[in-house]
Amino acid sequence: MFSKIQIERTVYSSDEHKLICDSVDKFIQKEATPHYAEWEAAKAVPHAFWEKVGEQGFLCMDVPEAYGGAGMDFSFSTMIQERFRYAGVDFGIGVHSDIVAPYIVKYGSEFQKQRFLPKMVSGEWVGCIGMTEPDAGSDLKALKTTAKDMGDYYLVNGSKTFITNGYVSDFVICACRTNKGTPDEGITLLLIESSFEGYTKGKPFEKIGSRAQDTCELFFEDVKVPKSHLLGGERKGFHIMMEELARERLGIAIEAVASATSALDTTIQYVSERKAFKKRIADFQNTQFKLADLAADLQVHQSFVDACITLHASGKLTPIQASIAKLKATEMCGKMTDECVQLHGGYGYMWEYGIARNYAASRVTRIYGGANEIMKMIIARGLLKE
Ligand SMILES: Cc1cc2nc3c(=O)[nH]c(=O)nc-3n(C[C@H](O)[C@H](O)[C@H](O)COP(=O)(O)OP(=O)(O)OC[C@H]3O[C@@H](n4cnc5c(N)ncnc54)[C@H](O)[C@@H]3O)c2cc1C
Repeated sequence: MFSKIQIERTVYSSDEHKLICDSVDKFIQKEATPHYAEWEAAKAVPHAFWEKVGEQGFLCMDVPEAYGGAGMDFSFSTMIQERFRYAGVDFGIGVHSDIVAPYIVKYGSEFQKQRFLPKMVSGEWVGCIGMTEPDAGSDLKALKTTAKDMGDYYLVNGSKTFITNGYVSDFVICACRTNKGTPDEGITLLLIESSFEGYTKGKPFEKIGSRAQDTCELFFEDVKVPKSHLLGGERKGFHIMMEELARERLGIAIEAVASATSALDTTIQYVSERKAFKKRIADFQNTQFKLADLAADLQVHQSFVDACITLHASGKLTPIQASIAKLKATEMCGKMTDECVQLHGGYGYMWEYGIARNYAASRVTRIYGGANEIMKMIIARGLLKE
């Protein structure tokens, strides 16, 4: 196992971390793993499961106590996300706890915090965020969904696509154009509840991986959104999204490192048991060199990502550092899962094997949260800035 040679992870070394880690693992084993294949077939994790996760106190752990959370630091939330990912239980907990809730904690009005956060902590409400549109992905400024000011409400028209948790969600943070000012200044965030008339959802997409993590389209047709649901101020949306994307990208790097660790551990176990030419696969020098190389890569990336977790906890993580973490950790994860499939032979290509699911699930980490090419643009801009 990788843990035998791994540097102790100081980000999760407190007794409290160890205790919570142990109870999350037991919860996953009992409440998630046995049902996961069913959820994959349904293309979504049932809402009731979110409520179970909430009952355990595993959602939105860093939400302040005044709004129902545990007020713990960011590392508890990331540790929980990692444990689910390590176990191959892939659902949108990171989007809910580590992206959507922080937007409301940081930019929400008192009314919004009281309305949304306690329900997010308990799992009664699941959150999602809608930035991407059919013609606006990497180029977010091209988004077309409009929010027309009608006095005491906005009238929203448009659509979003590829939205994680969209299908099970109870509300969305929706990026809309308020048609004022320059293109980036015109973007405004609105909290749109699923019960609002004119708001509908598509069916979960058929994806090549992460099949139980629902991803769908959202449609808005003359949806009346009260002004009380404006998040962070009119035309502040683009700036807020850029601020928050650093945390989102760190989350994806964390996810990639957890997937890579899981792939390596699964493979060490597999090659130690499987035989060919009257030897264990682990006895071939090729296997040993591959595993050594992969473990060394993993350690290096894990150390950088852990340093970023510490930086984020003290408010010092920069968008460039987060982009480096996302770019390199996801590339490493791609290489890791690919090599690990190879070491599993034909079994590695079978869906019932965790490594096949991991390989398919990990591919998207190089695409979402900003494609890796966009990460390179951000890093290069930082290098060449006067
Ligand atoms: C499973 C999944 C879940 C997602 N969840 C969410 C979500 O919850 N909320 C949300 O808002 N979005 C979500 N997304 C959308 C995701 O963030 C976008 O897919 C991503 O930003 C890329 O946008 P695009 O798909 O439109 O690709 P495009 O913008 O069309 O880009 C296609 C490719 O072109 C290349 N490219 C693009 N621009 C440049 C450039 N400037 N320089 C060089 N190369 C470039 C890259 O290789 C890129 O991958 C999700 C996507 C997936 C697949």
